[in-house]
Amino acid sequence: MMDKNNQDIDKLKQEFIANASHELKTPVTSIQLAVETAISALENSEIEDAKRFMTQILQDSQRMTLLLSDLLDLSQLEVNNPEKELVNLKSIIDAEIGFLSDENKNRVVFESEDIEFLIDPNDFSMIIRNLLRNACNYSELDKEINVNLFKDKSSIVLSVVDKGRGIATSDHERVFERFYRVDKGRSRSLGGTGIGLSIVKHAVDRNGGLIELDSVLGSGTTFTIKFE
Ligand code: ADP
Repeated sequence: MMDKNNQDIDKLKQEFIANASHELKTPVTSIQLAVETAISALENSEIEDAKRFMTQILQDSQRMTLLLSDLLDLSQLEVNNPEKELVNLKSIIDAEIGFLSDENKNRVVFESEDIEFLIDPNDFSMIIRNLLRNACNYSELDKEINVNLFKDKSSIVLSVVDKGRGIATSDHERVFERFYRVDKGRSRSLGGTGIGLSIVKHAVDRNGGLIELDSVLGSGTTFTIKFE
């Protein structure tokens, strides 16, 4: 007999597989349709139409790549134990800012002390990468994004602050759930996978940290992470 706890875990696993399969099926179906249409456009020498469908195929495959890489991150967090090392947190954040597009890179203001801290460096990269990605996605291009890293007694504090659309209080807990999105259409069109914040939460938890969300709808969002 399975106890209640195991049943709950089993249900969560089934839901996760159903969600992940659905998220992957959508771009695959779209790619198949776009390939068929592009082939018939080429047969009729409609080059511009063919190009349009090729672009669609490229976008869908990029979306799949992002989703697969997020799923791999999530499974890495579940399967392996954290491997803590003394790392320079500032240089990890600098590297992640460096991966952003130029227009996003230019609006990030990063202030930090040089801090060495014992943490899994991959986990810390995932945390900052996903918070940056969201701050960029959910705020306008002309709005600044602030990243602050400092020491507070024996703790270190990381905050990512944007002046974007914000998150309603009623959604504050749910945004950390896998595949939960406040606005599905908007998240998808921005290349969101719906699992970024669950990756962040998982990576923070397993390194013994705490995460806090402060947000006012329409004026911005701050994620603050503290490690003792
Ligand atoms: P997604 O890939 O959809 O961004 P996440 O798990 O990273 O998935 O975030 C879940 C949802 O939380 C997003 O779909 C979005 O609605 C909301 N969200 C996350 N970060 C922010 C932010 N900085 N500003 C506004 N909304 C946000």
